[in-house]
Amino acid sequence: MASDTRHALVLFSGGQDSTVCLAYALERYAHVETIGFDNGERKPAERASRVNVRQQLRSRFPRWAPRLGDDHVLDLSLLEQIGSTAPTAERESEMSAGGLANSFVPGRNLLFFTFAATVADRRGLSVLVGGMCETDFSAYPDCRDNALKSLQVAISLGLDTAMMIDTPLMWLDKAETWAMTEKLGGEPLIELVVEHTHSCYLGDREHRHAWGYGCGMCPSCDLRGKGYETWLESW
Ligand code: ZN
Repeated sequence: MASDTRHALVLFSGGQDSTVCLAYALERYAHVETIGFDNGERKPAERASRVNVRQQLRSRFPRWAPRLGDDHVLDLSLLEQIGSTAPTAERESEMSAGGLANSFVPGRNLLFFTFAATVADRRGLSVLVGGMCETDFSAYPDCRDNALKSLQVAISLGLDTAMMIDTPLMWLDKAETWAMTEKLGGEPLIELVVEHTHSCYLGDREHRHAWGYGCGMCPSCDLRGKGYETWLESW
């Protein structure tokens, strides 16, 4: 029995964080659907991961399988149009000083949650689950707890229904995310995350490390690898 009778929609990219969020939601909520956003930047490895992770969760975790419902994919190529509008010279230099690409779409997580809420409302789902985290990516203000709490209020008022935003990773570092993975699904879930999720910014599926596939050098691989090592040491 799920501890919470509500139905949830998980923002699911096929990466490590959203996969752990999906496992968390399957453990907690009575019915769970997933949503993905294709913004034109998605690598083939990420698309394959979404499908593989859902299949693996279904086949290896019989207690979760009956709760896992439909997957929805929205074409958000309009984000490319936004990312190709010219920033002012002043904003461009601010963005590049902050390590953001010229094509970066500010506040995109607000858009993702708002789109997810419109689908959730149509599907009778009242919880939105996302892997946003203040600990590792505090550079993104739209991942912060207060931003998402106020978005929850705006969405609930705008749809005239109680829509909760649930961010189980908000205060965890990457080592704690690995620990949470183990707690939710033991060794089989760790194996699934290592083997089937994809987080590398470069889309590298050639290099296999103890913590999974990736280039090993981009900021995402760096966080994932260091978190894994810290988690192992803490055992
Ligand atoms: Zn990488």
